[in-house]
Amino acid sequence: MPRALVTGGAGFLGSHLCDRLLKDGMEVIAMDNLITGSTDNIAHNIDNPNFRFIHYNVVDYLYVDGALDYIFHLASPASPVDFPTKPIQILKVNALGTHKALGLARAKGARFFLASTSEVYGDPLVHPQPEEYLGNVNPVGVRGVYDEAKRFAEAITMAYHRFHQLPVRIVRIFNTYGPRMRLDDGRVVPNFIGQALRGDPITVYGTGLQTRSFCYESDLIEGFVRLMLSEHTGPINIGNPTERTMLEFAEEIKRLTGSSSPIVLEPLHTSDDPKQRKPVITKATELLGWEPKVSLEEGLGLTIAYFKKRLGL
Ligand code: NAD
Ligand code: UDP
Repeated sequence: MPRALVTGGAGFLGSHLCDRLLKDGMEVIAMDNLITGSTDNIAHNIDNPNFRFIHYNVVDYLYVDGALDYIFHLASPASPVDFPTKPIQILKVNALGTHKALGLARAKGARFFLASTSEVYGDPLVHPQPEEYLGNVNPVGVRGVYDEAKRFAEAITMAYHRFHQLPVRIVRIFNTYGPRMRLDDGRVVPNFIGQALRGDPITVYGTGLQTRSFCYESDLIEGFVRLMLSEHTGPINIGNPTERTMLEFAEEIKRLTGSSSPIVLEPLHTSDDPKQRKPVITKATELLGWEPKVSLEEGLGLTIAYFKKRLGL
């Protein structure tokens, strides 16, 4: 039975990945310090003999008993609300934590998978973004702690690949949403849905003309598995190219929730908020045979149903 370690395994994406790997017949170890994750996300697996949870900070020396075939390194706060409140933890987990996870992969002869991000493109001057675009990142801005840390994580992953011949895979994740995001996560999907369901004002930051392209979690996880099992190092963009302005997106959430919340404009919460973001997914399509299957309307429907339940509605 193949054995996988998922760092950040109690988070939104990590917990869905654990479910998928268990379903595919793997033994799974989830490691998480719960800084932004929750054991609620993995509670349903706790009696599964093929699943184990280790409460641990991956910045510290990593030790895991027995063989490991795959290491999926997802540990990192990911919401822009964490950038000013957890800046050092973000830098450390992506720099020191990635180093430790790579060291463990090398010691175990495991294949290493890095969850990188579209944020490596910064506030992009090329649109949509292909993997070849080198980005426009402000290293000293509030978002720099995340963007630069992920860029470092990509660099050290490639160094282990080139210098130590470690098999590695790098995915650049574009905005992904779905059940198990925290209501107070601060990212736009839980914010808008929570506000719409409570009847509170829907807060659009800045002009609302900035764009994002939203991918449903199950599509993303399918892309992860295909990339890990492929022979391609990447980086490969995985995301859904369906692009919306934040004003359009607020209207869409209002319609799908049947909410009468007003839409209000607020100043941008972080400087360097990317003005446009949309993945070029030709590499994922051609190399992995991957494409998103879940429409925005369908995915938002599933996510709204989840948040309704969390709010007791
Ligand atoms: P999340 O906050 O739900 O999950 C991250 C998990 O990592 C949490 O459970 C957190 O407790 C854990 N963690 C953080 N620091 C840790 C540490 N030092 N030791 C152990 N565990 C630690 O966020 P998510 O959306 O599931 O993101 C998962 C990964 O995907 C992150 O690396 C993120 O940068 C990347 N990503 C996500 C998106 C997205 O749209 N969801 C986009 C781009 C990149
Ligand atoms: N945003 C918004 N209202 C909110 C939360 C976010 O208008 O309540 C905007 C934010 O300024 C950004 C976009 O939505 O332009 C996506 O933000 P998110 O925090 O989800 O992640 P990002 O893509 O910026 O990393």
